[in-house]
Amino acid sequence: MAVVDTLQKAGFEAYFAGGCVRDELMGLVPQDYDVATSARPQEVLRHFPKSQQVGVAFGVVLVRRRGAAIEVATFRSDGQYQDGRRPISVTFSSAQLDAQRRDFTCNGLFCDPIRGTILDFVGGRADIQARCLRAIGDPARRFAEDHLRMLRAIRFAARLNFQIESSTLAAMAQQAKALAHISRERVGQEMRMILTHPSRRSAAELLLETGLLQPVWHQPLTDAHLRPTRLDWLAGLPRQAGFALALAALICDISPTPDARTGPEALQKSWVLSTQETADLKFLLGQLPVLRNWKNQRLAVLKRIFADHRSQELLALYRAGTPEPGPRLELEERLREISATPLAPDPLVTGDDLIAMGQKPGPKFRAWLEELYNQQLENQFPDRATALTAARQLVATDAPPGPRAP
Ligand code: ATP
Ligand code: MG
Repeated sequence: MAVVDTLQKAGFEAYFAGGCVRDELMGLVPQDYDVATSARPQEVLRHFPKSQQVGVAFGVVLVRRRGAAIEVATFRSDGQYQDGRRPISVTFSSAQLDAQRRDFTCNGLFCDPIRGTILDFVGGRADIQARCLRAIGDPARRFAEDHLRMLRAIRFAARLNFQIESSTLAAMAQQAKALAHISRERVGQEMRMILTHPSRRSAAELLLETGLLQPVWHQPLTDAHLRPTRLDWLAGLPRQAGFALALAALICDISPTPDARTGPEALQKSWVLSTQETADLKFLLGQLPVLRNWKNQRLAVLKRIFADHRSQELLALYRAGTPEPGPRLELEERLREISATPLAPDPLVTGDDLIAMGQKPGPKFRAWLEELYNQQLENQFPDRATALTAARQLVATDAPPGPRAP
């Protein structure tokens, strides 16, 4: 408000623009406030000396206000687009033309907070009222300029619970394949926003319906991956599910081979997942088949899984893919039994004990420790003395043969 006020008092046009106006009109809390103005970047900088020019070519200045950063962008029109994503050049223009370059009518509104008025050059208010997501201008041209807008359309439609207007939807279905040419990192960023929102199921349905799911992965998918049952997995997740969990629900049956483009490592590189997200995704995808086969797993395996801090997410994933209450209840009952004794006690036998028995650290050594810990988890050792006896036996029966005569 203060930024708009300062600019208006200096004689410029200045408004709140885009998503914040949409959210305010819908009674939602805007994530951030963007300002659009007739002032050129240099003039904005002159009035807010501590601010930072971020997109020089695009005329965007970041003004810091009480800890928050407000993007102040000069009204502009976009020139020719390149790479299906960015304009080569921009020219500074008017509010009306600035509205025309925006993506969807609901995102093309301005609000003058001083006068309390809305400036609507694109019919955005009526579309918000009708819950309609509509491209500004010719949809085919707008998606050809910037293919990422197709994913943005899905994100907004799902999140706001809007219907995509028919010619906008048709243009998306027609150009879906072009998404494959967009930077994987940008696709990953959009998918992160789509999948971490509770509306993820509707979004995935739209991805399927428009043919965008395939180019999202950049790899041919088989029927199984595109079956609508996949959507039930997403619907079965907790509302607040994080990115790794939601992603796992979407791809858990897609990538049987580790080198597939939907494997955790491939996604880490192409979508630029964090180390944490990749590790979580690996855990979830790796342990899900183990958990689904829980009746055949030894107790130690299950205890190790449930001792992991991600086990609640793994359970959520299991539940999402197991709609029948019977198996879910059975597993919960088993989980209660398992938790009756500690899930991750301190090991009774350590490496030092094996060394004291004359053994040297190595692969075999690690395997022994693991097996002894498994037995401990399976409640076979009432005390350390029993555990040490078992260790001695294991080492004696399983020790590598001594040097053979030549
Ligand atoms: P969110 O609440 O998710 O931030 P938003 O509408 O603010 O939604 P942003 O990505 O922050 O979306 O962009 C701000 C505004 O800039 C949009 O409302 C839209 O007017 C415009 N815009 C952003 N990206 C594009 C694009 N790819 N093509 C055209 N206009 C865009
Ligand atoms: Mg925004």
